[in-house]
Amino acid sequence: MLKVVGLEIKNLIDDEECYKQVRRLRWPNKITCPHCESENIIKRGKDDTEVFRQRYECHCCHKRFDDLTNTIFSGHHQPLKVWILCLYFMGLNLSNRQISKELDLNKDDAQRMVSQLRSGVVKKNQ
Ligand SMILES: [Zn+2]
Repeated sequence: MLKVVGLEIKNLIDDEECYKQVRRLRWPNKITCPHCESENIIKRGKDDTEVFRQRYECHCCHKRFDDLTNTIFSGHHQPLKVWILCLYFMGLNLSNRQISKELDLNKDDAQRMVSQLRSGVVKKNQ
């Protein structure tokens, strides 16, 4: 049996693809402003630390936002790729226990993430 040392799924996936996936999830048709829902937005460069995180500015309300604004991913201590993998494993019908093991999370964190993902990536009541 071939023994693979230090191989973790987290290290095999691409940050850029994760951000693309978030855009597809939250904006299936067109990018809209999370504050006023206008489609009249312009790109405003990338985040300083997350190079694939796109920033935007709304032409209507002049507020700025980025790919993660107003999503369950913002302000969370888990990197985006862990969330996206969690989503992927949910699609494979893995149990919360299996997901926590694959992603090296504690069981409560995994459970919380799964239940947040089930209710949608865009935050409600804002
Ligand atoms: Zn706006």
